[in-house]
Amino acid sequence: MTYAPTPPTDGGCRTAPVLKERGQREVFCGLTGIIWLHRKMQDAFFLVVGSRTCAHLLQSAAGVMIFAEPRFATAILEEGDLAGLKDAQDELDAQVDRLLARRPDIKQLFLVGSCPSEVIKLDLAKAAERLTLAHGPSVRVLNFSGSGIETTFTEGEDACLASMVPVLPETDARQLVVVGALPDVVEDQMLGLLSGLGIDTVRCLPTRTAADELSVGPNTVFALTQPFLGETHAALERRHARHLPAPFPYGEEGTTAWLAAIAAEFGVDAETFAAVTDAPRARARAAVSQASEALRGKSVFFMPDSQMEIPLARFLARECGMQPIEVGQPYIHDALHGPDLDLLPAGPQISEGQDVDKQLDRARAARPDLTVCGLGLANPLEAEGLTTKWAIELVFTPVHFYEQAGDLAGLFSRPVRRRNILGLEAA
Ligand code: SF4
Repeated sequence: MTYAPTPPTDGGCRTAPVLKERGQREVFCGLTGIIWLHRKMQDAFFLVVGSRTCAHLLQSAAGVMIFAEPRFATAILEEGDLAGLKDAQDELDAQVDRLLARRPDIKQLFLVGSCPSEVIKLDLAKAAERLTLAHGPSVRVLNFSGSGIETTFTEGEDACLASMVPVLPETDARQLVVVGALPDVVEDQMLGLLSGLGIDTVRCLPTRTAADELSVGPNTVFALTQPFLGETHAALERRHARHLPAPFPYGEEGTTAWLAAIAAEFGVDAETFAAVTDAPRARARAAVSQASEALRGKSVFFMPDSQMEIPLARFLARECGMQPIEVGQPYIHDALHGPDLDLLPAGPQISEGQDVDKQLDRARAARPDLTVCGLGLANPLEAEGLTTKWAIELVFTPVHFYEQAGDLAGLFSRPVRRRNILGLEAA
């Protein structure tokens, strides 16, 4: 045994009753994931098959990306295209032919589905097969859905990674696959820690380029870095890889527990584990302690949005001294979120899904010191005097592992400090 976090004496939240809601929800769609995925996968192109709304979402979410050759685009289907599906398929093939002829740097092409009914009628899986035959082996064409009907914004990454798993080559090698798109600098920190523990056969999904080696098989174990990868988890298990359940690597404690689960699997001794982790643990604890001063004793309410809510609530409760009132998550998967629920002290209402008006009523009644929610809810709540944190920032900012633990606490403490200062000025 190298390390195990101390569970709360009250039994934690794993068996707490879950409030399940299936009403109207307020979240971005899965197309949003393309913004961070295209940065991570250097030779991938994301061709959204969608409407003008999809094109506008991508343009505004990506901000100023049109300085170089972009690596995503929208093939816009007009209503008239409904009449001739065959024509729409031919047009899609022609668009892809033109794109790949002009851009030999593209090695992976994702056809990304969306919500308009015209798109739903197009069989993008068949199109991907057809286009792989036409353009393989130099280009691999896959498809996934980013539709707002089916996905919240982080599920776009899940759908993308899950689409890659069935086509990975088979291997019998004993190896660790770390799953989830991390900024390169954070991924390098993580690989450095694993290498220090003596674990060197480590692959990442997604890889940075299509040429990077990645295969999967019965001797593969995998660890997730993001709590929104339920479909990818299932796809890897179908390939007979084995999941290493662990809390997610947010904060000092989450990172240590995540590393410890891997260390236990690979038989790393306690001395080596301590030698590698003691110094960064101390640094992370000091950084969190400083950044979380404004959070101690404050209450927090999570609307379901990023799918990171349960592990973040665990971090805020145990390392930053906050009191979660409600922890809402779009969906809860015991294999993924159970270890964090074990560590989250009992008390908060755990909720799954959303009925936004009812949940807003609960938030207004509770008057939390901080509400973590999507952009669409933040402004009205701020106008009502509640302090908010945009959930989407947590996905766009590097927050994993020891060196980012202080920054993670800082993301939550900044709005609380700002509200304190504004309150003082108004007094
Ligand atoms: Fe809107 Fe759907 Fe397109 Fe997303 S996929 S931008 S929700 S139309």
